[in-house]
Amino acid sequence: MFQKRCFNFIWGRKLEPISRKTLYSHMLKGGLNVPNLELKIHSFYLCHIFKIINNYNTPWVEFAVYWTGLQLKKYNPSIASNNIPHSEIIPPFYVKCLSVFTDFVENCKSSVNSLWTVKEIYNYFIENMNIEPKCVRDCKSVDFNNSFKNVFSSAVDPECRNTCFSIVHNALLTNQYLFSRNMIRSSKCTFCSKPETIDHLFVECYISTSINKVVLFFMHVLTADNHKLSLKQFHYLNVDNSYDKEINYVFLILLSESRQIIWRTRNDVKFDKKLFSPFDLICKLIYRLKYRILLDFKRFPSEKFELIWGNYCDVNANKKVELRLDLNPAIYANI
Ligand SMILES: [Zn+2]
Repeated sequence: MFQKRCFNFIWGRKLEPISRKTLYSHMLKGGLNVPNLELKIHSFYLCHIFKIINNYNTPWVEFAVYWTGLQLKKYNPSIASNNIPHSEIIPPFYVKCLSVFTDFVENCKSSVNSLWTVKEIYNYFIENMNIEPKCVRDCKSVDFNNSFKNVFSSAVDPECRNTCFSIVHNALLTNQYLFSRNMIRSSKCTFCSKPETIDHLFVECYISTSINKVVLFFMHVLTADNHKLSLKQFHYLNVDNSYDKEINYVFLILLSESRQIIWRTRNDVKFDKKLFSPFDLICKLIYRLKYRILLDFKRFPSEKFELIWGNYCDVNANKKVELRLDLNPAIYANI
């Protein structure tokens, strides 16, 4: 029941678009580090048995040897000595501990004759689950190690992160996704007549074209390279590692903020029937860009701020930020 509550908290609904096994894994492997309660409990059982086998220096071990000494004789003969009393009946708690321990020994290649902590045992379990997220299986050409790392970069605002996480996992609840599960009657895009897939909504649809062009323009300002609209970047946040980390930081801000703006606008139109124009999206992006620049100005030392945002703005003698780029949205409406 507690495990179910964890996932209810994450999704806020019954539909779970990403498998639980994936979410148990580490964030760099596509998960969210969600605690697997069954494995946590097994880790506590095992830690208890390891302490018995390794003669952990504490009074309760002597009692535990009375119950389990004979069963664990193979791993430490001294606890099965005839000089120590042993019970023939094992309490249910130790029956469970020994059952988990037997399974662990059969599958574990490491030594049990060392004191493992609960955390080490749990991490061992999680790492050996070898879960490959569905998106990794479906799209072999993308470097998902890079994508998962980027989703959890400090450049990605927490609100954008939720959206980007679902986008990278191909688990965003687009009309096509819901239609394929018979949850709605049409897969049509909210803005046009094509099927609303993630690729369509965030890259191909006219709603995203103008904002994506502005993102490309800002990327061009940073590197002077002619960046192209690529699914790897605009869908999977797979930013090229060949640039400096400061440049990648700004790229990730631009990509994640623009994904979030597209998704939020789509929801406003779909659920609240709000009116919009592609120009509104550009205004929102520029507003967020200014906000992120001011935020970083307040929280980073001036040298670091200069390294990150030096192409976009200067800090004047009064220690105020002066934008070097003209961030009037009207300029970017027709690029
Ligand atoms: Zn569309």
